[in-house]
Amino acid sequence: MRKVVIAGNWKMNKTLAEATDFMDAVIPKAPGGNTEAIVCAPFVHLPALVEKAKGSNVKVAAQNMHFEESGAFTGEVSPVMLTDIGVTHVVIGHSERREYYAETDESVNQKTKAAFAHGLTPIVCVGETLEQREANETMNVVGGQVKKALAGLSDEQVTQTIIAYEPIWAIGTGKTASSEDANEVCAKTRKVIAEVTSGDIADQVVIQYGGSVKPANIDELLSQSDIDGALVGGASLEPESFVQLVEAGT
Ligand code: PEP
Repeated sequence: MRKVVIAGNWKMNKTLAEATDFMDAVIPKAPGGNTEAIVCAPFVHLPALVEKAKGSNVKVAAQNMHFEESGAFTGEVSPVMLTDIGVTHVVIGHSERREYYAETDESVNQKTKAAFAHGLTPIVCVGETLEQREANETMNVVGGQVKKALAGLSDEQVTQTIIAYEPIWAIGTGKTASSEDANEVCAKTRKVIAEVTSGDIADQVVIQYGGSVKPANIDELLSQSDIDGALVGGASLEPESFVQLVEAGT
């Protein structure tokens, strides 16, 4: 049985006080068990949030990282630095990073491999634009992104990778893919993973849906056969709504 993973992507939001208040409100209510709650926070908040999350059912993720361990990369943060402070997960290839910061399938693959090399669990984001969807290119795009992201990983690493299917047209727009459409892409993505590994491996991979997920639509999304959680932006910013999303996974 796959676990349910609800990850809140704060993006570039919250002061340190707001971030720690959020943790104080959410930690006592995080259920644990088969449901994993992850907070994806700005780099500067990570040490304080990791400290707060110790011994709780909330995990802390970075929203990006460089693939090198160290070096002349001004402004960047390395996987070594993240594991050193106790971060466990990292978001890789979010569509905003692909669009504004020239993230490519190749750098996503390098970062995914670097995450595993340093004991971090990658949450790899994939998804199509509206134009690509309207041109029936969704699976070419998403399947290609997934294959490239997973290239060179061991079967064991593939089973531990979290894939976040996020149609770009649904991110921050209030437009959610219908749960059936989202599930269809997640199921086809699982087939793509099976093609490059095996059905048994693909069955173990957690595939999240992301794109305007909120308490009002999470139950229907999670009731689908191939949606194993959600990557959530806007609705993850308030503790009450994040807790409701996590509780939906129990
Ligand atoms: C995201 O940032 O990954 C996201 C899905 O945002 P939102 O939930 O606001 O659409």
